[in-house]
Amino acid sequence: MADQQPLDASKLTCTYTSNPQEVPSKAALRNGSETICTDHMITASWKAGAGWSAPELKPFGPLGLLPSASCLHYAYECFEGLKAYRGEDGKLRMFRTDRNTRRFLMSAGRISLPQFDPDELEKLIHKLVSVEGSKWLPQDRAGDFLYVRPTMIGTDSQLGVTTPREALLYIIIGYTPRVDTPVGGKRLLTSPDDMVRSWVGGFGYAKVGANYGPSVLANQEAIRQGYHQILWLYGTEGFCTEAGGSNFFVLWKRKDGKKELMTAPLDDQLILDGVTRRSCIELARERLKDEIEVTERKFTIEDLQEAAAENRLIESFAAGTAVSFDTSSGMILDADDSKWFITPISQIHHRGKDINIPTGPDGRPAEITGKIKGWLGDMMYGRAQHEWVTEIPEKS
Ligand SMILES: *Cc1c(COP(=O)(O)O)cnc(C)c1O
Repeated sequence: MADQQPLDASKLTCTYTSNPQEVPSKAALRNGSETICTDHMITASWKAGAGWSAPELKPFGPLGLLPSASCLHYAYECFEGLKAYRGEDGKLRMFRTDRNTRRFLMSAGRISLPQFDPDELEKLIHKLVSVEGSKWLPQDRAGDFLYVRPTMIGTDSQLGVTTPREALLYIIIGYTPRVDTPVGGKRLLTSPDDMVRSWVGGFGYAKVGANYGPSVLANQEAIRQGYHQILWLYGTEGFCTEAGGSNFFVLWKRKDGKKELMTAPLDDQLILDGVTRRSCIELARERLKDEIEVTERKFTIEDLQEAAAENRLIESFAAGTAVSFDTSSGMILDADDSKWFITPISQIHHRGKDINIPTGPDGRPAEITGKIKGWLGDMMYGRAQHEWVTEIPEKS
C-alpha cells in the first residue's frame, strides 16, 4: 500500500470558469428552493491500488456517475459543514477547520471510504474559499458567511456490498440566505417513541448522509405541529441527545445547588462531536469556571421536567453550524442576529406537556448563552484574536 499516492494539495491544478454566474440577490435566494453553489469546486478521485489523483479546482458542475455507483445503493457518503466568515474588518476567516477535516476522516473510515491526510484537505478547503471569497462574500457583506461542504462518495460501479474501490472527494460552497434565530427562541418536540436518530453500536457519531434523510420525517412532524426541531431522545430512560442537527445544552441548578452546564457525552457514540459543542465546552470550562461546572454526561427528559417544576432550569441552547432553517415552515426570523450557530431554546414539548425554559427578552440569549455566543462570534468575525481562527488570504 505504501506506493499509493497520498492526497496532496500541492498538486492542485486550477481551471477557472469562463462562464461566471451573477451572484443572486438575497430576495431571489430566499424565494428559490435550490441551494446555489459558487462558481468553482475542488475534486480529487481515489482508486484502490493507485491512491489519490492530483486535486483539481474547476467550474462547479455535474458529476459523471453510473446508475450502479456504490454511493447510490449503499450510502457510501459522508460530508462536513463549515463556514467562512467575513469579518467587520473586511477579512475572511475560518474557524477550527482542522476539527472538521479530522471528523471527516473519521466519518469516511466508518463507511469504508479511503483515508487521507486531513491537513491536505484543510489546505484545499482554504484554497477554494480564497478563490470564491471576494466575489461571493464581498467586503460589504461583513457579518455574513459562506457554507463550505466537503463531501466524499463511493463512485465505483458496484452492486455487491463491498468496500468501495473508487471514491470521489469534492468540496463545494453553498451560497445560502442568512436565516436567523427564531423569534422567541427555538421550540423543540421530543422524538416519537417509534423513532431513534442514533443507537449504541450505530453510526450517529459520524457525519454520514445515511443519518440525515431518515430524520426528516420526524422533523416534518415537528414543523407541522409548530415546533422548530426534534429533540432526539434515546432509550426507555429518555436520554436527551441532540436537537435536530445540533448539539443540545442545558444550564440548570442541580439539586445540590451547584450551577451546571451539561450536554450529552461522546463515549457511547450516540451524538456528533460538534465543533461548536466542543468550543462551547472548552470556553465555558476556561472562562466560567468560577460560576458553573461544565459536564458531558447523560441526563433525561424527566430530569428536565423535574427541574422545570422546581424552577431549576436556567437556560438551554442548540449549538452547531447549521445550513439554514427550513424557510418553508414560515418561521418568523430575526434579521438582526446573524450569529445563529447558537440558538436559545425556550420550550420543549414532551408527550403532551411543555417544559418552559427561560431566555433573554424576545427569546434572545440569556446571560450564559449570550456570553458563549458572543465569545465565539467575536472570534469568527475577527473582533477577538484566537488560535482557533485562521485568516484566509484572498485571490483578487
Ligand atoms: C453537524 C452536526 C452537529 C454540529 O456540529 P458542528 O461541528 O458544531 O457544526 C451536531 N449534530 C449533528 C447530528 C450534526 O450533523
